[in-house]
Amino acid sequence: MNFSSKNRKDFIQNLSNSTFDLLVIGGGITGAGIALDATARGLKVALIEMQDFASGTSGRSTKLIHGGLRYLKQFEFKLVSEIGKEREIIYRNAPHLTKPELMLLPIVKHGSLGKFSSRIGMWLYEWLACVKKEEHHKNLTLEQTLAAEPLLKNNNLLGGILFYEYHTNDARLTLEVIKEAVNRGATAINYTKAISLITEQDVIKGAKVQNMLNGEEFEIKAKYVVNAAGPWVEEINDLDKKKTNLKLHITKGVHLVVNRKKLSVKQALYFDTHDERMIFVIPRDGKTYIGTTDTFYSGDLQNPKLTTEDRDYLLKCINNYFPENIIRKDDIESGWAGLRPLINKAGKKPSEISRKDEIFISSSGLITIAGGKLTGYRKMAQRTVDVIAEKIRTDEKKNIPECSTAAISLSGGKKINNIEGLIAQGSVFGFSEAEIILLINRYGSNITELFAIAAQLKTEKNELPLFLRTQLKYAVENEMCVSPCDFFIRRTSMLYFEINEVKKWRSALITCMQKMFSWTDELTGKFDLELQTALEETEIRK
Ligand code: FAD
Repeated sequence: MNFSSKNRKDFIQNLSNSTFDLLVIGGGITGAGIALDATARGLKVALIEMQDFASGTSGRSTKLIHGGLRYLKQFEFKLVSEIGKEREIIYRNAPHLTKPELMLLPIVKHGSLGKFSSRIGMWLYEWLACVKKEEHHKNLTLEQTLAAEPLLKNNNLLGGILFYEYHTNDARLTLEVIKEAVNRGATAINYTKAISLITEQDVIKGAKVQNMLNGEEFEIKAKYVVNAAGPWVEEINDLDKKKTNLKLHITKGVHLVVNRKKLSVKQALYFDTHDERMIFVIPRDGKTYIGTTDTFYSGDLQNPKLTTEDRDYLLKCINNYFPENIIRKDDIESGWAGLRPLINKAGKKPSEISRKDEIFISSSGLITIAGGKLTGYRKMAQRTVDVIAEKIRTDEKKNIPECSTAAISLSGGKKINNIEGLIAQGSVFGFSEAEIILLINRYGSNITELFAIAAQLKTEKNELPLFLRTQLKYAVENEMCVSPCDFFIRRTSMLYFEINEVKKWRSALITCMQKMFSWTDELTGKFDLELQTALEETEIRK
């Protein structure tokens, strides 16, 4: 059965009529990774997500697969080594979504990074993360640094270092992991919320859930339940009568997007701030985005907001390295705010709290995984499923295979050899070369499925361009897209990087979806308002 939002009824029937080995609560990268790992080891897996997949932190990150160079400052050698090595694996398994990103680290007088200490740090990082030789860093003189990035202010500049990280599309990475789990037999559904836990003789055996699209409630039975709810892990923990003493420390991180012409950096930059943090400036799809902040947070978990303080902080950081007022408040086109679900450690500043993950097991059997990084999702999943495998070995005397995800290519991750051929194929539908490259980077080897859809829709008259209509149909029928926000935010990232296109095609897309799903006018209005609110949320608020 296709992973289509039109098949929701069948998925719900399957979820309520079966007993699963494992129920995963949370459709961010952590839950996605666990679902794939467990399914690949032969377990029968269900995954539920109360909003859209990747609506939480996993769609609101800096979008880097990175080794966490800055964690060396906190002596987190094990973390740096593990996530550094993961970069290569994610690149191999999802080459469409993961690309090497050359970064420039400028060294300035009186900065928190000295020339010598940065070089030692870089060397240590490459050694710990087993960085391949061709991606080793390069030390630059002052002149070379300015040639690499002519926009940099040169009054305090001493030199720089060029090194490699990887960029990704966080929401699509999460989706492709879930799609791969589904391809291998998992049942995953969005807009389905765990509202209570089912216990039998004090042992958790599933969850009562609510379909958030129509309010209906049903039960999902499972031998084991994993809480992978990111910033909401404490809420799920609270549903457990025998809850553990897990405490989160939530911090907010904000990113701003400006037109590339306003901040036309030649490559990504990573630099220290006036308050001894580090921020990124990253060019992407004709835009440049800047982030991130790191401040304690205790508000609405679902809709963290961009504030004037966040904006002013990031603009100040930019002004320290680039000519005064190179970007002004009015240049900010879009942005997003995300929440870090960090494990509470009293007395630490936000940027000092460890990004390590930790597993908590309650006496009623709820397995909670908290903390961690997008980059480390596969290893976090491995550790969690190892715990379940051990329980199965003890409880059921059954052996579960070892983790195999290092060798699993994600959905869309098959090698593409013939880009020229794809460009020729796509041009038949009137798609430009740039559009076809965008499709390759967004959908990888699944692009052939999009071409098949384009062939079906080619002759249909519609206000919405074929390029968007094709992606919409694919998103609905293969990626459980339910609403215009799902499409413009998690499926295509257009709300962040092509906001004017969203405004331009908003009404045509909604009309198209109304027809596809036979929405009532009331429901259409609700989804339109949701998109309007999302558009407003990209704006800075006091
Ligand atoms: P989430 O993505 O939040 O997923 C949890 C999901 O559970 C949510 O979608 C939520 O809706 C769902 N849920 C909650 N309650 C229920 C319920 N009752 N029923 C069903 N579902 C429920 N890491 C990197 O490696 N690289 C980076 O560049 C990077 N940058 C970052 C920048 C920022 C600003 C932030 C905040 C984090 C960044 N991180 C980065 C860290 C990384 O994004 C997170 O570690 C990761 O996304 C957490 O994923 P998660 O699945 O645990 O949580």
